[in-house]
Amino acid sequence: MSTNPARRNAIEAIASQPRLQGSFDFRNEKIDLIYGQNVFSLDKMEKRLPKDVFKSLKASIEGGITLDAAAADVVAAAIKDWALERGATHYAHVFYPLTGTTAEKHDTFFEPNGNGTLAQFSGKALIQAEPDASSFPNGGLRSTFEARGYTAWDVTSPAYIFDTENGSTLCIPTAFVSWKGEALDKKTPLLRSMAAVNKAASRVLALFGKKHGFISASCGPEQEYFLIDTRLFHLRPDLYTCGRSLFGSKPAKGQEFEDQYFGTIPDRVLACMMETERECFKLGIPIKTRHNEVAPAQFEVAPIYESANVAHDHQMLTMTLLKRVAAKHGFVCLLAEKPFAGVNGSGKHVNWSIGGAGVGNLLEPGHSPHENAQFLTFCSAVIRAVDLHQGLLRASVASAGNDHRLGANEAPPAIISIYLGDMLNEVIEQVKKSGSASSSRKGGHMTLGVDTLPVLPKDAGDRNRTSPFAFTGNKFEFRAVGSAFSVAGPLTVLNTIMADSLDKLADDLAAALKKNSDFNSALQGVLKDILTKHGRVVFNGNGYSEEWHKEAAKRGLKNLRTTPDALPEIVAKSSIEVFERQGVLSKAELESREEIYTHSYVLTVNTESKLVSDIAKTLLLPAALKFAADLTPVEKTKSGGKLRKEVIGLADELASAIDALDAAREVSKSDTHAQAKHSCDKVLPAMLKVRAAADALEEIVADEYWPLPSYQELLFLR
Ligand code: ADP
Ligand code: MG
Repeated sequence: MSTNPARRNAIEAIASQPRLQGSFDFRNEKIDLIYGQNVFSLDKMEKRLPKDVFKSLKASIEGGITLDAAAADVVAAAIKDWALERGATHYAHVFYPLTGTTAEKHDTFFEPNGNGTLAQFSGKALIQAEPDASSFPNGGLRSTFEARGYTAWDVTSPAYIFDTENGSTLCIPTAFVSWKGEALDKKTPLLRSMAAVNKAASRVLALFGKKHGFISASCGPEQEYFLIDTRLFHLRPDLYTCGRSLFGSKPAKGQEFEDQYFGTIPDRVLACMMETERECFKLGIPIKTRHNEVAPAQFEVAPIYESANVAHDHQMLTMTLLKRVAAKHGFVCLLAEKPFAGVNGSGKHVNWSIGGAGVGNLLEPGHSPHENAQFLTFCSAVIRAVDLHQGLLRASVASAGNDHRLGANEAPPAIISIYLGDMLNEVIEQVKKSGSASSSRKGGHMTLGVDTLPVLPKDAGDRNRTSPFAFTGNKFEFRAVGSAFSVAGPLTVLNTIMADSLDKLADDLAAALKKNSDFNSALQGVLKDILTKHGRVVFNGNGYSEEWHKEAAKRGLKNLRTTPDALPEIVAKSSIEVFERQGVLSKAELESREEIYTHSYVLTVNTESKLVSDIAKTLLLPAALKFAADLTPVEKTKSGGKLRKEVIGLADELASAIDALDAAREVSKSDTHAQAKHSCDKVLPAMLKVRAAADALEEIVADEYWPLPSYQELLFLR
């Protein structure tokens, strides 16, 4: 066989592997019993805690307030007993640093006590820890002499046990803050933004005369990912170092047959999915959907929505489990936004709404005119929020990885706009046009010029995949989020700008009501004003089209194409103001984030560009030159001579592209922002030039010389 030996071995191993014997069979499992078995849920707490302690814990969970020390000791003892019964030996405060990952520090329960060990776990250890995690980026929020950071139990997210092959750990979801109380993580601002939504939505609902419980933001995140065979993965330094391929010529077969989307899930993949889902079920993660995605080797998993904070923790766990279980099945799960050029990348659709007990989903069109007025009010608040803070939303999905996906013809463009669908759009247009005269009180009903809403079809028109932010019947779907992202950032922005819009709406409505005792016409005036000012952000057409880019520019919408263009929006005046007004993030906290994300962008491009240079120099150029040398004996033949000339021509091109890349890489700017700009404008294009020459060589160099597994092999062998 003529394939390169390392690749050949991998391919032979894949071809001859026995059919995987599942370690369990869903048919023999009682999902009822498995579901949530590793979660210290409310019903377990109720069974194990004295009544008064349970009551005060429940109150802190519902109100998002900290637990008092005495109760904490009792709760800790109960959690410890439960965890030990389930075989846990260690506990960990789990937190979510600004790297966008999950972090944890484990301690054992067992401490020596003279003649053996004793399991210890105090209320203090439950509520707070000081992980001395001083190596996490903090963007200037902590200097080394005050490097302490604390993790504090987030009572709104339950503790759980994480099982691995060799043992189990009790995990406590926490917020991570500096000793001054500044947020060093992604969870703290998310929790603050949830409180802001509750406060602001309550003000609006009070004006509607509505009784309600806690108003919470909800989230159902759809996760796309690739599964690649481990044996091939290990032959690709780009994949195992950067999570995405930096080289690879276009395969003969890509996704153009459209035979992959919703196709039959391959057995080996299905076994892996089922085991992932089983692990999710144990942790109470309500996974609902699995399917093949558009690209070969691409799949999706989606849960039923939950409160945004819990959905965030569950989403982080789902990513962890996808990777862990994949490894057990001989796969690597790639979460990068664009692992392979030329086929679709991966996103994470963040479905988002707000609602609560007593009022239900506030973005669900209702059955009565009153409910419809309420729906249009909340919907208008979203439109205002997204229009005013387009830049901030764009920044919340900015990363080196997502830049390769956004705006490529498969994912929404970098211009943030809202898709409403034709029917809702018509209603909104009516509200915009209707003068206050048409508002009236008919038979005690409130009308808004639009008496009843048409029944809005859920999702019918909305297969408009080209919109970054689409109304899908009873929620908005933020589609620009990248597959590797934590949902915390986008959710925090959505909640914060929504809260601010609702506050403004409540102010305006209250003011209008003072002047005008008719609620209906007061509301109509306020909504009309909002929609007239902010309706420009609504766009129902094709977001990929050239015309839209022109039209968006005419409307004054932002088009922030790259991460260095987008990140400064985090510290724009309007962003600082909205975050500070809502008490979600301070100027210093925002500045630290902007700095960390910019730095992280530079680091990513640095690593990738170094790797492009290394792989090209030490693997690809030598392979091409060796092939050319081996062609020397046939140089005199017509075909041999032609091929050799072509190879040498491309090899020279490759060599000079490498030199140009190395020169671009050497430039070092003292300012991080200037460096990010340089990475974006100079280094990335230089990387692409190296890649172009290498990919052209891959197409003509004899297969046995080419060291990297091809796209064909990576995407189709399993
Ligand atoms: P799709 O056609 O995009 O798959 P689905 O109706 O299956 O749409 O919903 C996708 C995701 O949206 C699921 O995770 C679902 O739970 C979530 N979702 C549904 N309703 C809400 C809501 N009110 N708030 C947040 N997410 C929601
Ligand atoms: Mg969807």
